[in-house]
Amino acid sequence: MSEDRFDAIIVGGGPAGSAAAYVLAKAGLEVAVIERGVTCGSKNMTGGRLYGHSLRRLIPDFEERAPLERRITKERVSLMSASATTTLEFDCPSPVGDSASWSVIRGRFDAWLASEAEAAGATYVCGIRVDDLIVRNGKVRGIVAGCDRLECDVVILADGVNSQLAQKAGLAKPLQPMQVAVGLKEVIGLTEQQLRDRFGAVGDNGTAWLFAGEPTRGSIGGGFIYTNKENVSLGIVATVGDIDYSGISVVEMLDRFKENPLIAPLIEGGELLEYSGHLVPEGGYDAMPELFGDGVLLAGDSAGMVMNLGYMVRGMDLAIEAGHRAASTVLYAKRR
Ligand SMILES: Cc1cc2nc3c(=O)[nH]c(=O)nc-3n(C[C@H](O)[C@H](O)[C@H](O)COP(=O)(O)OP(=O)(O)OC[C@H]3O[C@@H](n4cnc5c(N)ncnc54)[C@H](O)[C@@H]3O)c2cc1C
Repeated sequence: MSEDRFDAIIVGGGPAGSAAAYVLAKAGLEVAVIERGVTCGSKNMTGGRLYGHSLRRLIPDFEERAPLERRITKERVSLMSASATTTLEFDCPSPVGDSASWSVIRGRFDAWLASEAEAAGATYVCGIRVDDLIVRNGKVRGIVAGCDRLECDVVILADGVNSQLAQKAGLAKPLQPMQVAVGLKEVIGLTEQQLRDRFGAVGDNGTAWLFAGEPTRGSIGGGFIYTNKENVSLGIVATVGDIDYSGISVVEMLDRFKENPLIAPLIEGGELLEYSGHLVPEGGYDAMPELFGDGVLLAGDSAGMVMNLGYMVRGMDLAIEAGHRAASTVLYAKRR
């Protein structure tokens, strides 16, 4: 890394980090984003449904430019036992405004949002993990990555769930087992015909399908399927502190979910394209850390900004909004 001094350094090139970088770079600040993945999005995963309201405030024409998979026009919620399922279905052919949402694949989506911030003037350094913060006289003044030290006026910690840096800054406490869930997900390739026959995926219409009950064997959590352009995202989210109640591991939950008589025919003949695991903060408002200190702000999952109803997780839209607001706060402070 160079020895340049930046106005702001952002740790993490996920939705929160790139939203913040975009706003600061557009305002003319010297911004560096340090991302540990080899590319933005390479270490990230999500269930797959992005509500567009906060992205629209950032990039009004994102619908034409972002790598969105399918517009969600069909909702299904299934209450599942081992042998039977009750499903509620809701069709909304043309969702508009804040209720509009799309399925996304993070490898593509995060890389795109980073490219927008880069085009606005932000500098991205990928493949580097930030290990520590430079703190002098109680104020955060930069970051330490291996042997490199980079100084700046403000650091935005957008490094995701279980942020070690937020803990080092004295803003967050270690997560407790009931404050965090673990998610496992597979991306399974299907043909256009299979997507149409099995999910009614015609044109760019997509389905968000959530499952409660049997997928986590009654413990807190649930299953999900989102249809993408050429595949489906299928997974399980289970609260760490409640997994014992189910009597099985999360890996077994996912395997059994896929073997369920309702699910198995939907993915039969599909090709496994991706397998990933990730934590989800789910402590809610009470578990949120301090959002700022002298010279440092938190945004997104690092600040616990996720709504998790067990079978439904929503954090990408909140991360984008949080990154936007963290950056706006920095700009406000700079003007004073
Ligand atoms: C199974 C699962 C299903 C989900 N489903 C949905 C859904 O359907 N809809 C929804 O809106 N949300 C969903 N979420 C939540 C959503 O994915 C997160 O809320 C969102 O990704 C948070 O964005 P972020 O930018 O704050 O953090 P992240 O996306 O985690 O980005 C953090 C970035 O920081 C980098 N990083 C971390 N530490 C360092 C370091 N020390 N140095 C450098 N870089 C670092 C990481 O590599 C990463 O790129 C789901 C999450 C999971 C796990």
